Amino acid sequence: MASEARPVQPGQIAPRSIGRSVLLTLPIAVWSLLMFSHSRQPGRSGQIASILTAVFMIALFFMMMRTWSTYRWRRWFFVAMGLLFPVGFIHNVLVMRGTMGIPIEEMIAGRTPFCYLPIPLLILPAAFTKTLVFPGSILPGGGMSGAGMAAMAGVWLAITIVVGKGWCSYVCFFGGIEEGMASLPARAKLRKIDPRWRYGPWAVLLAMVLLSLALFEPAYCMWLCPFKAVSEYVAARNTVGMVQNGIFVLLFAGLVVVLPLLTKKRTQCAFFCPFGAFQSIFNKTSVFDVKIDQTRCSPCVLCKSACPTMSLTDESIARGETLISCMKCGACVDACPKHAAVWHIKGTEVAHKPERARLMLLYAAWGMAIMFGGGIIAEGLATILHVFV
Ligand code: SF4
Ligand code: SF4
Repeated sequence: MASEARPVQPGQIAPRSIGRSVLLTLPIAVWSLLMFSHSRQPGRSGQIASILTAVFMIALFFMMMRTWSTYRWRRWFFVAMGLLFPVGFIHNVLVMRGTMGIPIEEMIAGRTPFCYLPIPLLILPAAFTKTLVFPGSILPGGGMSGAGMAAMAGVWLAITIVVGKGWCSYVCFFGGIEEGMASLPARAKLRKIDPRWRYGPWAVLLAMVLLSLALFEPAYCMWLCPFKAVSEYVAARNTVGMVQNGIFVLLFAGLVVVLPLLTKKRTQCAFFCPFGAFQSIFNKTSVFDVKIDQTRCSPCVLCKSACPTMSLTDESIARGETLISCMKCGACVDACPKHAAVWHIKGTEVAHKPERARLMLLYAAWGMAIMFGGGIIAEGLATILHVFV
């Protein structure tokens, strides 16, 4: 493990040497080659997509090592995953069913892919009735098989324990679209945001958990998920179905496209997503966090402006902490001209070998990113390449 310190001259950061950057990238390169040595998609387009994805993931990690910067390279991966997910997913759904609309019978039979967003909505119905309400209702025969659900829940739990809400920066295949939108304008047009919007995800989480228990269905998936607009939705056979789909499209347009363009924030994640609120709780179990080294902080609050989820306030900076909603994206660390915003391993002194903390987080998070996001990128690329190759 490298123990070298990041150079501290603001604005004059010397890049890490190429040799050392290559060495640090080596484990990730081996993992990428293992993951993509066998194309998951058939044909030449699948092989080319696998090679391109492996090169992309290795190159981004190398740049993170070489430049000491996390956020700007992570963002390339995250936006690519967000944009390519609907391409591969919609293609598969159309091949399977010929439509993005799911008939209710298909839902009841459990013939829908797993999605992690309903996880918090499953807990109370399962506790009270021993029934999984994923993804449709408790009608007989409904839901995903117990083994399939257990496997996916196990994967989610393992990742969550390690990175906590880092899930929302390295694994979530929905967040990239709004991160891409937020990165387009040079400046935010809407700068004053009422800080009480931060409670939004918690309010939606509470409402959806209670509603899911009352209705015995994952209420968020049925009524409020913006990403139904770019994945699969309830087949609109009647007025209720049309209302549901109208809500999905409006929420997607507002929270994932328009507001990120106006605010340069991840508005869906910061103000609405109940799964994000749920993941925040696991920031308590993760060993990694971001701290403010008060011996260096000016405080210029550039980190606060850079944070896409409003997870820093004047008070939290003064305490040397982020809020619980921090998703470990690294934007504040990259933005801080004093190198006072630092990666940190719980139980160690603040600013004690922050680069070591960053490397440990990145090996874990990038390893998972390659496994999940890499597969999604390869699938989306293969779908596009299949048209040409
Ligand atoms: S950007 Fe750095 S120096 Fe400025 S307030 Fe944030 S931590 Fe302190
Ligand atoms: S506090 Fe820093 S690491 Fe956490 S979400 Fe905000 S910018 Fe990202």
